[in-house]
Amino acid sequence: MRDNYQVNDSGFYGDFGGAFVPEMLYHNIQELKDNYSRIICDATFQRELSNLLQQYVGRPTPLYFAGRLSHYYKTNIYLKREDLCHTGAHKINNALGQILLAKRLNKSRIIAETGAGQHGVATATACALMNMTCCIYMGEKDIQRQAPNVARMKLLGAHIVSVSSGSKTLKDATNEAIRDWINNPTDTHYIIGSVVGPHPYPDMVAKFQSIISLEIKKQLNRPPTHIIACVGGGSNAIGAFYHFLQDEEVMLIGVEASGEGVSSNKTAATLARGTQGVLHACMTKVLQTADGQVIEPHSISAGLDYPGIGPQHAHLHQLKRVDYGHITDKEALEAAHFLSRKEGIIPALESAHALAYLNKMKLQRTDRVVVNLSGRGDKDLDTLTKENK
Ligand SMILES: *Cc1c(COP(=O)(O)O)cnc(C)c1O
Repeated sequence: MRDNYQVNDSGFYGDFGGAFVPEMLYHNIQELKDNYSRIICDATFQRELSNLLQQYVGRPTPLYFAGRLSHYYKTNIYLKREDLCHTGAHKINNALGQILLAKRLNKSRIIAETGAGQHGVATATACALMNMTCCIYMGEKDIQRQAPNVARMKLLGAHIVSVSSGSKTLKDATNEAIRDWINNPTDTHYIIGSVVGPHPYPDMVAKFQSIISLEIKKQLNRPPTHIIACVGGGSNAIGAFYHFLQDEEVMLIGVEASGEGVSSNKTAATLARGTQGVLHACMTKVLQTADGQVIEPHSISAGLDYPGIGPQHAHLHQLKRVDYGHITDKEALEAAHFLSRKEGIIPALESAHALAYLNKMKLQRTDRVVVNLSGRGDKDLDTLTKENK
């Protein structure tokens, strides 16, 4: 049977996925697993979500033909403008979807963890809109590094819990959020921000982000020849690929952050450098030592600074349905400056990794290349101006 690239009934994508959760979390996950498909497919749910995506997020986002960029690369380049979503990135698509789902499950309280703060801001925004109590776990170090996003979350009414255990970053915040969920199983829903974590999260988040490729399909008369997206956990990329996975003639390209170089010790290129292992309750590829300790990743863009990758990507990589490349900090910075000057669009440093990949490709005049512009660069102004060329 041909692989449809989607999750099977046991929650796996080939060798990857699953739900390796402690027994105390079993009930929470089971409740989600038993209900998410039915709720998402329900017509009233779909109407409510699609109305919010239109009126509140600003969807459909434009598929902009980038004339000056196309001229430079001697091909046809389209930018999918997720940077124009309310809150400045694709993450709001998922946050709203999960909050509506939480309401259907009679939850009144939302928890989430955030590293860079982008997922925290999207979650706090959706909670304000839906009148849900919002509690965001964040490492003490990240709270200092991401002060503007912390201020945003507070303005939006979220309660920020500073986590000072371990390395005081994302993984420690995740541990605390999980502890909270174990202690509050009835009234609380845990929103994960990417296509990672235990089943059914990767599939659920992919479904909420798949609106991106659904729109691309409608916005182009013919299918694109290539779709390029950056990959942290992999949610904007899966969203941009989703409805083209079965169109084998469309080349799909995921771009990881190689930091200071794919062979260096400061990298976040999980598929290039990682090995199989369990991270955040999911079998996937992980940056880890030979004895299974997670290696601290590095990328100039906080949103790509993750030591794992969604299990569906690990599977698509193994099957070679998607090509995965990588881009260094320096190449991404250059691409961000280049797009700003060429098109008057300042991209997020994450998205700049996808843009930089255009330099690595041999493109034909007749190609139709979609680059998923996952977010806007306002949050990265410090880095963009400090490390200026
Ligand atoms: C969070 C983020 C990413 C990385 O997350 P994915 O789940 O891989 O999409 C990419 N771009 C932007 C703008 C982000 O905020």
